[in-house]
Amino acid sequence: MNATPASLPSLPHLTWQHVPHGGTLLENVNFYLRQAIEHLAMARHFPGQSIEERLLEPDSVIERKISLQMDDGSVRCLHAFRVQHNNDIGIYKGGLRWDTGVTRDEVVALASNMTWKCALARVPFGGAKGGVAVDPQALSRTEKERLAKGYMRTFADVLGPDKDVAAPDMGTDSQTMAWMFKRYTELCDDRTVPGIVTGKPVELFGSYGRTEATGYGLATCVTNVIAPAGMRVMVEGFGKVGMYAALRMQQLGARVIGLADPHLFGGALHDPDGLDIAAIARCLQHDGRAGVRAAYPATLAPEALLRLPSDVFLPCATENTITDAIAKTLDTRVIAEGANGPTTPAAHQLLHNRGVVILPDILANAGGVIVSYFEWLQNIQEDYWDEATALARLDKMMNENTRALITAAAELQLDLRTAAYVRAIERVAAARRYLGAQ
Ligand code: GLU
Repeated sequence: MNATPASLPSLPHLTWQHVPHGGTLLENVNFYLRQAIEHLAMARHFPGQSIEERLLEPDSVIERKISLQMDDGSVRCLHAFRVQHNNDIGIYKGGLRWDTGVTRDEVVALASNMTWKCALARVPFGGAKGGVAVDPQALSRTEKERLAKGYMRTFADVLGPDKDVAAPDMGTDSQTMAWMFKRYTELCDDRTVPGIVTGKPVELFGSYGRTEATGYGLATCVTNVIAPAGMRVMVEGFGKVGMYAALRMQQLGARVIGLADPHLFGGALHDPDGLDIAAIARCLQHDGRAGVRAAYPATLAPEALLRLPSDVFLPCATENTITDAIAKTLDTRVIAEGANGPTTPAAHQLLHNRGVVILPDILANAGGVIVSYFEWLQNIQEDYWDEATALARLDKMMNENTRALITAAAELQLDLRTAAYVRAIERVAAARRYLGAQ
């Protein structure tokens, strides 16, 4: 799989000042961006412009209300967002999140990270994100269908296959994308426009490998710093990302000794000999969440699991789960961020200075948007790839990007996260220079 043997890079000590403690995702993302901006002395790249405005502030924040008709006939008013952060290197691109925690600032932070993720991955897209403040677990299938179609109708004027393309994120999936695609088709007088969303089912203009892409890509990224065979892996979050990452790590010879997911298991599962991830995934598919809870009751509290030794830890749940309190007792060697923004800046500094290698979100979880790009390409070219081609190209890009970032960090004498933002900002800044003033 890898031409060069995996080895842990040694990187310089961090001495960040004014590190936010308990900050929001937006505060944390902007803190990381400011470290990179300072390193780049960006002012010389944008003479006469406010760097803060140019790189941190989104191009537009679109906030609208969606009236969702519930099955019982009542109508709920939901807050919905689409944030378009930057389109200097390509059309706006990013997922749609359905979660009770969705706020304007959260969506802005996630949209910003999409800009840097795409730039770092060398995918010709800009950054965007959508969100609806809602608990998808509490919606019936028909309510979800109405919400997906309602979202598309509400934001159709700002979306488009050559303008802004949505995809799944927390709480949404390929079915959600299929409903959005259907609604867009109707809005276009029945003209089929598959490139309007990515992450569609394979049977409906989707790409092979898209569902697994983020998790598989995460595992591939890890293999560039540690050989997976025999390694003890812990995973936080058994959603789409965590499940496929765990499955892939196991296929590569690792032992997944812990799974933390309070919503699914009521806590964490632990087995020092390795959990049977494929069996748990099958149970989830056939018997649903209630079936998993009955068949796999938690044996530990998540915090207790994270204190046990592991070689690789994959946070794949949501933002800010690795606080400095967790970081103090986290006993691992490599962290690869499947979630967006799971590590707080204080925790990042603490872990990095302890020698833990942190493969940052904008590198490590880019597999999803990479295969979204493949899907969008297949849609506009009307030429469909087989599974082996999609997965091989994903692997190749994840390996190349990970190696390039490790080299960049060593050259720049930075931690991997700051180096990732530096490289990403450089690429967007270079495009902006060619584009000139608006
Ligand atoms: N939601 C995913 C992410 O955060 C994928 C985005 C996409 O495919 O556009 O990277």
